[in-house]
Formats: sequence, structure tokens, C-alpha cells
Amino acid sequence: HVEARGVTKSYGDHLVLAGVDFTVRAGEVSCIVGPSGSGKSTFLRCLNALESYDDGTLLVEDRHVGYEYKGGRYHEWNTKQFARFRSRIGMVFQRFNLFGHLSAEENVACALVQVRGMGKSAAKARAREELARVGLAQHAHKRPHQLSGGQQQRVAIARALAMDPEIMLFDEPTSALDPELVDEVLEAMKELARQGMTMVVVTHEMGFAREVADTVHFFDAGVIVESGSPAAVLGNPQRDRTKAFLAKVL
Ligand code: ATP
Ligand code: MG
Repeated sequence: HVEARGVTKSYGDHLVLAGVDFTVRAGEVSCIVGPSGSGKSTFLRCLNALESYDDGTLLVEDRHVGYEYKGGRYHEWNTKQFARFRSRIGMVFQRFNLFGHLSAEENVACALVQVRGMGKSAAKARAREELARVGLAQHAHKRPHQLSGGQQQRVAIARALAMDPEIMLFDEPTSALDPELVDEVLEAMKELARQGMTMVVVTHEMGFAREVADTVHFFDAGVIVESGSPAAVLGNPQRDRTKAFLAKVL
């Protein structure tokens, strides 16, 4: 469960998030669409505490992101609390950021050993399970340069899944891929959605949003201008800004 109320963030005097209200219930898929520079990535980075926010409330699975309430007031998390939180939030970026000198299996196993303290052979066994889950059982031994972009992105998804995330965040996971590789990544994401993963997906793939999202949110100039079912927001938008954006991308 994710809940944002009036979340704001500025870089210097540039207000990037201007009061974001946003809800995703457990097991739901939420897609975020909107123009470049509207604050979509910044919002995702706030959700996994890669960025701080200035004001408002941000709850992930009932934790107040970045703060602990103790002795009648809020205390900012210490480094350990931040690390523990981030390790339970899966994030997949446009660029896969795999280690080039490690095999797919080692890329997935790496954090299990380093962050979870799992033994090497147990971590590798778990890595193979997660690679199988995204259709890469046959490719576990390959290094990134021996894999297609779509396969590399699926390794990145497996790596996030191996950490048992409470939610998965995707920031334009297919926009760096050649068009013919987009579907295999979207299929892996659909499978994840079918398994009940709570997902927040920033995407320009309107077909995916239509088919998979429970809710679509249209972001513009740091606020969510319009939210609703895919049929409502994509099929029958109410706001002029949403209409103008969709006219360009559809
Ligand atoms: P895109 O669709 O191009 O990915 P976006 O909606 O993800 O755009 P953000 O990356 O969240 O947009 O950026 C929102 C605004 O914040 C932009 O104007 C951007 O230049 C600014 N911004 C983002 N990160 C920083 C930063 N670290 N320092 C200063 N400004 C930033
Ligand atoms: Mg972005």
C-alpha cells in the first residue's frame, strides 16, 4: 500500500512536486503518464527514499518514508533504517545498470549476499529461481554483453524480485529498448502483476497501461491532474491538459 498526501519537493527555487496525492492499494498496478519534466521520476525516487521530500505525507506499507515517530515527535531515519527500507522497494530503471563483469546469475545473487548476508550457493539458487520467473533460466551464466537489451532488463527485474520487495517501481523500463524487445519485458511485468505484486509504473506504453493498470495517473507540472481507471483517463479524459498530452502520444 502506498499513500501520498500533498507531497512537495523543490530543487532550489524550482518546485518539482507541487502537492502530489496518490494511492496504490496492495496488489494493484498503478501507471503514471505525463510529459517530460513533470516530476514522474522525482516522485518515484521519493517513494523509495532515493530523494527526500520537503513537505506532505508519504506512507509505504504503513511506514512514514524517511521518518520514525518516537517520543512524541518525528526523527529522520538513520543510515541503517534508510538502507533497510530501500532494500525492500524494488526499482527498475530505463538503464539496467548491471555489472558487466558478472553473469546474470551473479548480478541477481550479488545483493542477496551483500545486503541480506545469504550464503553464496543459496544466493545463486535463489537467483536461478528469479531468472526462471522472468524466462531466463537458459541464460543464467551469460554476461550482460551476451544478452539482448530486453534480456538485460529482465535480469534487472529478477534482481529486484530476489530481494522480496513489498512493492516494485518501474521508471520507463522499456523506453531504452529496441521496439522488438519491448514486449518480452512488458510480458514479464504482466506476469508479475498477475502474481499480485503491487506496482507503480512510469510508462509511455499506453497499451500496457490499458491492459494492466488498475489506475492511471496523469502527471503534469508536479501534480496529478487526473486519476482513474485506464478507460476513464486514457479513453475519456476530462482535463484539457490530459487531452492535449494523449492527443500527442496515442
Ligand atoms: P521525463 O519524462 O523526461 O523522465 P520526469 O517527469 O521524470 O521527466 P523528473 O526527472 O522528475 O521529470 O524532473 C522534474 C524536474 O525536476 C525537471 O525540470 C528536472 O530538470 C528537475 N530535476 C530533476 N532532478 C533534479 C536534480 N537532481 N537537481 C535539479 N533539478 C532536477
Ligand atoms: Mg523521468
